[in-house]
Amino acid sequence: MSIETLKIPGIDKAVSRIALGTWAMGGRLWGGSDNELSIKTLRHALASGINLIDTAPVYGFGLSEELIGKALRGVRHTAVIATKAGLQWDDGTTRRNATAQRIRKEVEDSLVRLETDYIDLYQIHWPDPLVAQEETADELERLRREGKILAVGVSNYSPAQMDDFSRYTALATVQPPYNLFERAIDSDILPYAKNHGLVVLAYGSLCRGLLTGSMHSATSFGGDDVRRIDPKFKAPRFEQYLAAVGALEVYARECHGKSILALALRWVLDQGPTIALWGARRPEQLKGYEEAFGWHLTADDLTHIDRILASTIKDPIGPEFMAPAKR
Ligand code: NAP
Repeated sequence: MSIETLKIPGIDKAVSRIALGTWAMGGRLWGGSDNELSIKTLRHALASGINLIDTAPVYGFGLSEELIGKALRGVRHTAVIATKAGLQWDDGTTRRNATAQRIRKEVEDSLVRLETDYIDLYQIHWPDPLVAQEETADELERLRREGKILAVGVSNYSPAQMDDFSRYTALATVQPPYNLFERAIDSDILPYAKNHGLVVLAYGSLCRGLLTGSMHSATSFGGDDVRRIDPKFKAPRFEQYLAAVGALEVYARECHGKSILALALRWVLDQGPTIALWGARRPEQLKGYEEAFGWHLTADDLTHIDRILASTIKDPIGPEFMAPAKR
C-alpha cells in the first residue's frame, strides 16, 4: 500500500499524511522515555516513508529536538521537520511568549538541537495574548526571508487569530487537536482551513492512546504522565470512552477488516486537507500504519460511528486541560 502524501505550501517535498509526533519522546509529562528507543522509532518511521516529524522545544525541554537531530544525521534532507516556538519554561512552568526576541532565540536554539541549518515548518505553539500578532508574524517573515524556515504555521489559533496573523505573513498550516472524540474544529477551524488553503496537522489523533484499543479499565499511568490529569481517563468518563472504543473496534473489524487504530487515522484523513499526527516512542507502535491508507469511510460509516459515540459517551469532554498558562 503506498503512503498518501500532500503538499504544504512553501515546502518542495511531498509529506506523508501520517506524521510522527514526538512529544512523548521528550519524556516529560509522559512518565519518562527511552532515548535509544526514540531514535530507533524516528529512523523506523523515516524508513517506512513517514517523512514528516512534528516536535517542539518544550517537549522534554529540548530533548525531543535533540533526539531528532541525532536520528537524522546523514539523512536530514529526506525528512520534513515541523517544530514550534512561543512557549518558554522557567522553573518547570511553561508559559506563552511569542515576542520577536523570544522567537529569534528559539529558532537559533532549535537549529542547534536539530543539527540543521533550516526548519521546514515553523509553528507558533499557542497564541500569546500579550504580544501583537504583527510582532510575531513579522519575525517569522524575516526568518523565512533569511532561509532559516521554509513555511509558517500556527497551533491552537482561532480563525479570527489566523485572519489577523496572516495579514503579516503567509500561513501554510494550522495544528489543532482533532480525533474521533475531539471535534471542536469541525465548526470553525476546519472550514476556515479549507477556505484558505491551509493544511491541518491534527494532533492527538489517537486521543493520547485511547483510540489504539490497547487500554482497559485497569490501565493506569505512572509518574508525571499527562493522562493522570486528563479528564477522559478518570471515572466515570473513562468507562464511557472505553465502551466507545470497544464498539468502534467491532465496527472497524466487521465492516472494513481493519483495526480501530486504522479506523481512527482514516477518520482524520477523510475530513479534509489533514495530516494525522501519530505520537509514538517505540518502533513497534507504528506497526500497521499502512492499514490507514488506500480506503475511505462512507457517509453511512460516518453516521454509524456517530451513533456509537452518542450511545456510549454520555459526558463528553475536550482536551482544554492542556492549555499552558498565559504569563
Ligand atoms: P496521540 O498521538 O493521540 O497518542 C500518542 C500515544 O498513544 C503514544 O505516546 C502511546 O502512548 C500511544 N500509542 C501510540 N501508538 C500506539 C500503539 N500502536 N499501541 C498502543 N498505544 C499506542 O497523542 P499525542 O502524542 O499527544 O499527539 C500526537 C502529536 O501531536 C504529539 O506527539 C505532538 O507532536 C503533537 N501535539 C501537539 C500539541 C500542540 O499543542 N500543538 C499538543 C499535543 C500534541 P504510550 O507510549 O504511553 O503507550
